Amino acid sequence: MIIALVAHDSKKELMVQFCTAYRHILSQHQLIATGTTGRLVEENTGLTVQKFLPGGHGGDQQIMARIACDEVDMLLFFRDPISAKPSEPNEMNLLRICDVHNIPVATNIATAEVLIHGLEHGDLDWRTILNPQH
Ligand code: PGA
Repeated sequence: MIIALVAHDSKKELMVQFCTAYRHILSQHQLIATGTTGRLVEENTGLTVQKFLPGGHGGDQQIMARIACDEVDMLLFFRDPISAKPSEPNEMNLLRICDVHNIPVATNIATAEVLIHGLEHGDLDWRTILNPQH
């Protein structure tokens, strides 16, 4: 499956910790990410991540385009609900396009844990029926 990773600046360390903890699951899937999030995950976990542009340069829009083309099976978007900078990805646009395409999405680590366990247990296998190439 193709899993997209996006983390606002204050949540990037948390994303690295999450990816470290679930490396054994994530390593079986294709990861894509906004630029800085992807670089940090790659450097700190050894996972291979396809990196798009940094969020402030349109990386979030590149991910939204992949979602719109049904090329993403899950979005883990660790957002900062308190102090995200104006240049950081607009969560409403990302969440909206996930809802349009019924993409499983987590906006915090608690939901991300549920999704990743569901992924491991095959609860998201219906996605491969929609997208056999994933
Ligand atoms: P980044 O994008 O991973 O490139 O930083 C997300 C953000 O801007 O918060």
